Amino acid sequence: MWGAIEHLGRDGRTRGYLRDAWSPADLELRRWFGQEAARRGLDLREDRNGNLWAWWGDPSVRPGVVTGSHLDSVRQGGAFDGPLGVVSAFAALDLLRARGFRPARPLGIACFTDEEGARFGVPCVGSRLLTGILDPDRARALTDDEGDSLAEVLRAAGRDPGALGRDEETLRHVGVFVELHVEQGKDLIHRDAPVGVASAIWPHGRWRFDFHGQANHAGTTRLADRDDPMLPFARTVLHARQAAERGGVVATFGRTRVSPNNANAIPGLVSAWLDARGGDEEAVRALVAELTEFSGAEVTVESWTPVVDFDAVLRERVVAAAGGAPVLPTGAGHDAGILASAGVPSAMVFVRNPTGISHSPDEHAETADCHAGVTVLAAVLEDLCAS
Ligand SMILES: [Zn+2]
Repeated sequence: MWGAIEHLGRDGRTRGYLRDAWSPADLELRRWFGQEAARRGLDLREDRNGNLWAWWGDPSVRPGVVTGSHLDSVRQGGAFDGPLGVVSAFAALDLLRARGFRPARPLGIACFTDEEGARFGVPCVGSRLLTGILDPDRARALTDDEGDSLAEVLRAAGRDPGALGRDEETLRHVGVFVELHVEQGKDLIHRDAPVGVASAIWPHGRWRFDFHGQANHAGTTRLADRDDPMLPFARTVLHARQAAERGGVVATFGRTRVSPNNANAIPGLVSAWLDARGGDEEAVRALVAELTEFSGAEVTVESWTPVVDFDAVLRERVVAAAGGAPVLPTGAGHDAGILASAGVPSAMVFVRNPTGISHSPDEHAETADCHAGVTVLAAVLEDLCAS
């Protein structure tokens, strides 16, 4: 399975992945998902929000146990963030079937749409729409760098943007969700363990800072006459680092849009995205408030996810099935966190990443650790589907 997808959306020069939602690479990956489902005789469904579900058994009879992840990537992302969870889901199902296991309740494999938000700026679009956390009107109006709205992009992909929104029927099918994911940090290296289980997801959010100025000629405009929005932006980036250190949180400006984006022009507008997270919600909110005031920018909340504590009973079952794997919190957002915050009992299994690097081509997982992840996932699904 890995060999079938590893070239899709890969930048030949950097070896990083470019798998924007609804891009040709994403559509190709979705087709691959459908083929893998068909090969196993699973019932493939696409819900109103573009999420894919492959079912073994009928979830309208009884809510199922669902595993899976996403296939889109950040720009210049790694191979494992997302696809490892989808490939491991199919592999775990194969392992269970090879053992002759017959699930007592339906078993589903999910592929959530646009988890990373690389194209439209809002992460977990598929699961947020499914659960009603993201307003469908707001989603339809999101635009990519080309100025195309999500509604237009969906229509071009043959989907109906009018169908977006909370999907009760699909939600009813999901009794439990377990997402396997490559670790995006170094905890498992320090604990010398190939597999871990998530305790919680830090509160996190994205804010767009719009710095307005006056576009003008870079040569003929005297310094004194300039209204250059790059300057307050630069000061805000430095201030964000200091405020984060003081508050014990993390803050990142990792994306900017400069207009007109010419080497010989003073910008008229600098838009920059702040990503802020931390173990303490109040500290994250205080940082954003401080930066909003300091920057003088026009600030828009693009997403906010409060702390997600995964279901404790389910977590204990997953830990037991995983043979006592360590439990760790994470600073990364996931579809499992969105489902958990919407009341679906959810859990996460992490697979060690020897580089500790993620959202980069250096992201990695050793084959033996991936196999350990599949073995643990199969044990978890076997336990959850046994009765
Ligand atoms: Zn991911």
